[in-house]
Amino acid sequence: MIDPFGRSITYLRVSVTDRCDLRCVYCMSEEMRFLPKRDLLSLEELDRICAAFIRLGTSKIRITGGEPLVRRDVMTLFQRLGGRIGAGGLEELTVTTNGTQLAKHAQTLYAAGVRRINVSLDTLDPAKFTAITRWGKIEPVLEGIFAAKAAGLAIKINAVAMQDVNEGEFDDMVAWCGQHGFDLCLIETMPMGDIEGDRTAQYLPLSVIRARLRRRWTLEDTDYKTGGPARYFNVAETGRRVGFITPMTHNFCESCNRVRLTCTGTLYMCLGQNDDADLRAVLRSGASDAELDAAILEAIARKPKGHDFIIDRRSDKPAVARHMSVTGG
Ligand code: SAM
Ligand code: SF4
Repeated sequence: MIDPFGRSITYLRVSVTDRCDLRCVYCMSEEMRFLPKRDLLSLEELDRICAAFIRLGTSKIRITGGEPLVRRDVMTLFQRLGGRIGAGGLEELTVTTNGTQLAKHAQTLYAAGVRRINVSLDTLDPAKFTAITRWGKIEPVLEGIFAAKAAGLAIKINAVAMQDVNEGEFDDMVAWCGQHGFDLCLIETMPMGDIEGDRTAQYLPLSVIRARLRRRWTLEDTDYKTGGPARYFNVAETGRRVGFITPMTHNFCESCNRVRLTCTGTLYMCLGQNDDADLRAVLRSGASDAELDAAILEAIARKPKGHDFIIDRRSDKPAVARHMSVTGG
């Protein structure tokens, strides 16, 4: 699948639920209203759309949410998709999770063919963790992370950088990740969805964090790429990588290789734009595989050149009204 700007679209991110057992302050409002269950694609429908993408050349699928591991029976989706790895055409199946349910599922994920996972953890401080997630407890998440490590999964920790919240912790997090063999990726807050707070107060440019990290760590340039927007450095002292995702300060759209499917079957061709394609309607109209493929190709032909996120200090409206938990991070 090649889009109008010559980019090869090989990466599909799939949100399997908009629900979550946490309420991270930058992601959701406290009183989130979730979708009625009937609007969600069934696991069979999700598998069918993924199969179409794989047929059309998708080599990497990431399962996300909401919190993907809270969806009932979601392991059956991992097992089906895992069966498509290799000769089936899929090269990699991964997941982004908050880790609360990982201890239960780590071994099943590995057995299904998952080899790398991203776990979101913004702080190592239990009280701060509870404040950021509004009610979460850090212990099950840490237990989940170590269960995943024991199961053989490679782990990348994702942390959203927030001014005055966790900005003082990144030296400790680099050290902790180094000690346990995890990569670390720091993310700037993106203006997505109403969150009952002032985003300009949270926003912290990662250029500042990187400069501070350099006081203690030797960050060596690398050309390591995961096909994503992160820029990675080797931390000489730990031998692990630290990455920076800077959507607000650095435009990475020219190398974008991905599209996103929501749990209701809406395909977004860009995280920062509203144009979409309703694949659920296509599926539920009784479309054949050929018709489904055609609908996907038509959507890829509409992939825009890039996003225009702006955190505007004069307006408190998010640049994109839908929450990250709808499209999947
Ligand atoms: N629940 C899972 C988790 O937390 O990893 C998967 C979904 S979550 C939406 C995916 C990622 O998006 C998380 O790492 C989260 O920190 C990040 N995220 C959510 N809202 C964000 C925002 N407004 N700006 C930047 N990152 C955000
Ligand atoms: Fe849930 Fe992930 Fe959003 Fe946090 S970032 S509220 S864990 S979906």
